[in-house]
Formats: sequence, C-alpha cells, structure tokens
Amino acid sequence: MPEDIYFSNDSVYGEMNKVFITHLDSDHVLGLPELMLRPWIMGRSEPLKMVGPQGLNEMASNIIEAYQSDIDHRLYGTQPANELGFTVDVTEISDNQVVHEDDKVTVTAFRVPHGSWAEGMAFGYRVETPDKIVVISGDTRHDEALYEHFEGADILIHEVMSEAGVGQMAQDWQDYMYHAHTSTQQLAEIGNKVAPELLVMTHPLLFGQTDEQLHDEMASYYDGNFKLASDLDIYE
Ligand SMILES: [Zn+2]
Repeated sequence: MPEDIYFSNDSVYGEMNKVFITHLDSDHVLGLPELMLRPWIMGRSEPLKMVGPQGLNEMASNIIEAYQSDIDHRLYGTQPANELGFTVDVTEISDNQVVHEDDKVTVTAFRVPHGSWAEGMAFGYRVETPDKIVVISGDTRHDEALYEHFEGADILIHEVMSEAGVGQMAQDWQDYMYHAHTSTQQLAEIGNKVAPELLVMTHPLLFGQTDEQLHDEMASYYDGNFKLASDLDIYE
C-alpha cells in the first residue's frame, strides 16, 4: 500500500479540511467524532476547520475529551501520528455572514427558523461558484423570509416532510413538526418561487410513508425537476 496515497494530507481524508454545521441537533452531528478523528489517523496534519452555531466549540472540545485515551495512545504510543490533525479550529456564527471564500467558492451562512432553537442557532448555507449556485436549507420550517437566500439557486437542497405522514400525527406533534420542518406542499411553493434547475429533497421525514409515496406526493404538488437525495449522490 503506497503510504503517500493512504496516509497523507493529499488523500481524500486530508482534503476534507472544513466542515459547515447547520445546527446542533444530534441527528446532524453524531458523525462529528468520525470526521474529526479518522482523517487525522489517515494523515490530516492540520486542524479541522469547523463553522457552525454557538455551542460548537464546546461540543468539539467535549468530543476531544471523550476520545482522549485514544488520542493519547496514538500520539504517545508506537503509531506514527502528527500532533495537530485531531485538533479543531472553530468559527461560531450567530448571524448571516460569509463563512468561506477562496478563488472559486464563496459560502454564506443564513439563519433559518427551526423549532424552538433560538434565532441564530440554525443555519442554511449558500454556495456560490463560477458556474453554479447551490443552496442548502438545513433544517427549517417554511418561511418566505428565506426566499432571498434561495433566489438564483441552480440546485436547491431542501429538507422535507411528508404531508400525508405528518397529517396522521396527534395535533400537538403536527404543530411541533410544522414549527420545525417543511412539508411537500410548502416545498413545492418554494420550488415554484425559486425555480431551481434541480430541487433535491433531503432529510426526509416520512412518518410511515415510503420514499415512493413521498416522491408521488411531491409530484402531485410540483412540476419542476426534483429528486430525493441518497447518500453519496452527485448532482450536476
Ligand atoms: Zn434539526
């Protein structure tokens, strides 16, 4: 195994050097220890840059503390290890702002309303490149104030919940879900307003419905081009 491919900063692990967190709900950050630690073991020698809401720095510190035994045994045992790759460089944000800029890509965070998270604790990200604009909603309820951030998106990656599914829940749960998430019918409204080349439905809340039923439900409301996301999909 050529070590410069598998154990170096140039490997795919080393290239994953910045992560954008939408909010701190556990289903969105359970993978963080993996992202923080495995690429270090595989060769990342720089701190992982992390952007996200207030509380992210404390979470990252606590993850490092939780894995301290593992980190110590790699740093001070017989395994070759670098001293920086497991560390983090966290930028906490609370307002709309540019969070990344290089010669090709600009990423702007924008606040989204998500359940009872305080304002400025949940974000979407708008990624602008020379040939495409990609907008990621994060977890959000439907709010027309967000349209300005969605505007011009070639690819809109938006969360969704099944209207038929949520409609079968008790009223207090329905109220909660509509306070936190966006139904197919609402997403169709967004799609019609923004008119992206491609609308990618992600984070599907099915509530007993199948993927196919969700797809059909969306198709009943929306004539535009849309897909239900799967892990590792590539959209162009
Ligand atoms: Zn959430």
